[in-house]
Amino acid sequence: MDNELRELYQQVILDHNKSPRNFRKPEHANHSAEGYNPLCGDRIDIYLELENGIVKDIGFQGSGCAISKASASLMSSIIKGKTKKEAEILFNKFHDLITGKLGDEPDIEELGKLAVFAGVREFPARVKCASLAWHTMVSALNEDKKNISTEDASN
Ligand code: ZN
Repeated sequence: MDNELRELYQQVILDHNKSPRNFRKPEHANHSAEGYNPLCGDRIDIYLELENGIVKDIGFQGSGCAISKASASLMSSIIKGKTKKEAEILFNKFHDLITGKLGDEPDIEELGKLAVFAGVREFPARVKCASLAWHTMVSALNEDKKNISTEDASN
């Protein structure tokens, strides 16, 4: 990884830790899932408001290491407004990126901000930290249990 990308990686991790995006439970969330990475002790809850197959709102809560938190924050800002299908495609891309499947020269243009996580593949123990929020997001997408507060609101 070149120095520029490494620096950007550190900047993004620091920035998203200091001011995580969407660190809240959206009021109208109707999907959620709990993620836990026992290797590091990261715990993340993902909340989604899914309407007509589109992620209208997304938020997360929990506690974990800097990488898990930054990854959840970045993931939430990227997934917001995407369709379920697009979110799953992004998950696959991100997963290939951090596990090194995209090779040494990942297409930065195509990956956008996610590309900064290319650095994670140099630290295998951190791959699970970076992917936790994404795995949890996908399981929230596919969960169809209605959130209780949403049910209450529709009464
Ligand atoms: Zn971690």
